[in-house]
Amino acid sequence: MAKHLIVYGHGQQDPGAGGNGYEERNFTRYTLGPHLEKYAKQLKKNSIDFYDKSLNMYYQTQAGRGAYTTSTSYASVSEFHLDAAGSSATGGHVIVSKSFSADKYDLAIAQVVNKYVGWWGSVKGSKGISYRSDLLNLNVYARRGISYRLIELAFITNKTDMQKLVKNIDAVAKEMVEAITGEKLSGSTGGSTNTSKPSKPSTTVKNTTKYNKGDKVKVLSKATRYQTGQPIASFVKGSTYTVKDVKEVNQSNSKYAFLLSGINSWVLAQDLQKVSGGSSTTNTNSGKKDYSKDYYTTNPGKVKLLKADGLRAPNDVNWTGNSKYGGYYPAGTVFKIKGIKTTSSGLPRLITESGFLLTANRKYVQKI
Ligand SMILES: [Zn+2]
Repeated sequence: MAKHLIVYGHGQQDPGAGGNGYEERNFTRYTLGPHLEKYAKQLKKNSIDFYDKSLNMYYQTQAGRGAYTTSTSYASVSEFHLDAAGSSATGGHVIVSKSFSADKYDLAIAQVVNKYVGWWGSVKGSKGISYRSDLLNLNVYARRGISYRLIELAFITNKTDMQKLVKNIDAVAKEMVEAITGEKLSGSTGGSTNTSKPSKPSTTVKNTTKYNKGDKVKVLSKATRYQTGQPIASFVKGSTYTVKDVKEVNQSNSKYAFLLSGINSWVLAQDLQKVSGGSSTTNTNSGKKDYSKDYYTTNPGKVKLLKADGLRAPNDVNWTGNSKYGGYYPAGTVFKIKGIKTTSSGLPRLITESGFLLTANRKYVQKI
């Protein structure tokens, strides 16, 4: 009987790396996480705890908590991440402290990475293990004598890596739980039939609806969260948007998620309904105030701050937060903009590359 800890990388105001419609912070917490948590519950001899998802362990360690205060009763700590580089970089790896050699659990985890995504080129000669001494949590745990590894599951910047990972997410999670604990779980992974236990809740994805780019879809009123885990604002429910992009997710009850124009967010198939009739009406906030004179209402691409201002949290479209979570920047700072979000009244906000929001007010920002 041993107790283990799983940590999801990044978090709080740090989204980690992004690519192919995903970001590290949300992928590990909301795409992989539910599968890991499901299999952790099936363990009989061992157990896995999960580090508080609302926290970023790295920040916590910097503040003297996190890795410094993790109980020594944990047999191991496994931190999940996705790697980022150019789009051709591929494969995953397991990082352990240079002061030790990889144990059988590290090697088993690396085998799971290899089976579903393959190994990154630099670790092919070391069984998928990368030995390092320049990471904070890794060094703190090494000094405290607690076994720790950081798992880079795949390159978030590589489309094929992410497709392989997402397609097999349930099997990856099950085999990770087995590799971390050394305990074999019974039963099959989502998608396969289990004739011996027909009443077992099935994780088979039921909604295989796939809309195409350009299709008009309505967000159902029963929808609660975006594919990435953030709550869906009430003004989005019942509104019609155009599908901008499609990705395979095998998440909750849906096989696909769709990037919707206007809100620039991913929504699961189960929360959408096709708008029939081919009407060309889009959600242009008709009947609402026209903000285009004082605000950028379409993506300006790149802007410069005219006055010092701060960034707001990615979901704080109504500026409810008191502090400027993404930091305060002087006049002249340049931001790359990846999209626009609007409040329920249609007031636009700029989405910066990190996902944090910036004012779209022309008195504060200027297109460059
Ligand atoms: Zn990371």
